[in-house]
Amino acid sequence: MKNIILLGATGSIGESCLNVIRQNKKEFNLLGIGLGSNLDKAHKIAQEFEPEHIFIGEPDLDNSHQLFRRYPRILNSENELQQLIQDSNVDIVVSAISGFAGLKASYFAIDAGKTILVANKESIVAAGDILIPLAEAKNSKIIPVDSEHNAIHQCLPSYRNLDEIAKIIITASGGPFKDKTFKELAEVSLQDALKHPTWSMGTKITIDSATLVNKCLELIEAHHLFQIPESKIEIVLHPQSIIHSMVTFIDGSTMAQMSNPNMEVPIANALGLGRRLPINFEPIHFSGLNFSFEPIPEGRGVIFEIAREVCNQGGNLGVIFNAANEVAVESFINKDINFADIYRVIERTFNSFPCSKLNNLDDVFEYDKQARIQAEKVIKSIS
Ligand code: NAD
Ligand code: MG
Repeated sequence: MKNIILLGATGSIGESCLNVIRQNKKEFNLLGIGLGSNLDKAHKIAQEFEPEHIFIGEPDLDNSHQLFRRYPRILNSENELQQLIQDSNVDIVVSAISGFAGLKASYFAIDAGKTILVANKESIVAAGDILIPLAEAKNSKIIPVDSEHNAIHQCLPSYRNLDEIAKIIITASGGPFKDKTFKELAEVSLQDALKHPTWSMGTKITIDSATLVNKCLELIEAHHLFQIPESKIEIVLHPQSIIHSMVTFIDGSTMAQMSNPNMEVPIANALGLGRRLPINFEPIHFSGLNFSFEPIPEGRGVIFEIAREVCNQGGNLGVIFNAANEVAVESFINKDINFADIYRVIERTFNSFPCSKLNNLDDVFEYDKQARIQAEKVIKSIS
């Protein structure tokens, strides 16, 4: 029986993770959950799974104490969360908080030498230069949950001889606007952007998928997780979202991982820690199925050039890229800027910072703060 701390339990990944745990009750004990502010949903989860610890990241204390009177420990400070993660009973931490807010949780788990299932790609993008060496030093095992990275993880032999990899091919659905010209993107609405053709996900990642910035984040995430240069990572559109990514080896073989688009599949793989866990899934019906592949739509190239520069130069550039995107996406959701402006905000914010080395986590938070201020300035200048 493995003890799990699930951070981001009330979100889309949290829900899929709970479904996998529910189907494998003998294997897992949900020792703790973490969430931002959705107390009603947390209450339901707590009633069903009876976790001993509940971390509330955006606490409304009166309310939360009332709701969780029955539970022995409500945690509402980062220190308490860190202590819980350090507990020797904790076997697995699932990092599924959305956005940069998830960085501390990822850091605590890696620093404590735990096995961490990373859905929160933003923490790897912003702080990969700190987190990956830390994982090595603390013997923390990072297992990717993001479907593309979990696919790559499944395609790679366990010994991970990087010299044998010719290239990694990350697939992208293309999102709802793949056939639109860059000019047409200025006119699309928030509602349109939230209609993802193949995946059902949280709001922020759904907008990232529509802009294709999600693929940029995933390129940087793959570069860090698999310690592979960006020149060996190709991105290709695959609108059916059945092949989640591929690895081509130096002998000409290409391995692909496939499933219908459902996050329970990569989550089950990650939670299995090398074993296959049974889950209910809709099998792929191959007869009559057409796979197609396309290049990245025209006009989005600049954003990928920036992402590749982040991989090549490293340091603070991942923090800047991530922060600029988070501020731009929030402004688009609040209707302060149009959809195409998201690209402008990222590009102009990114170009305002020279590359510098990250020495520690404090540096990450400092650059994040500065980039957010700069992104707000850019937004004021264009709105
Ligand atoms: P979501 O918006 O549905 O859920 C986010 C979760 O984080 C919620 O439980 C929320 O309460 C919690 N949260 C937010 N702010 C918090 C804070 N300050 N402290 C503690 N908890 C906080 O998001 P999601 O779609 O589940 O995505 C979660 C992460 O997984 C993101 O980083 C996303 O990029 C990544 N991811 C998601 C999917 C997907 O299919 N949804 C796929 C791949 C990767
Ligand atoms: Mg993904």
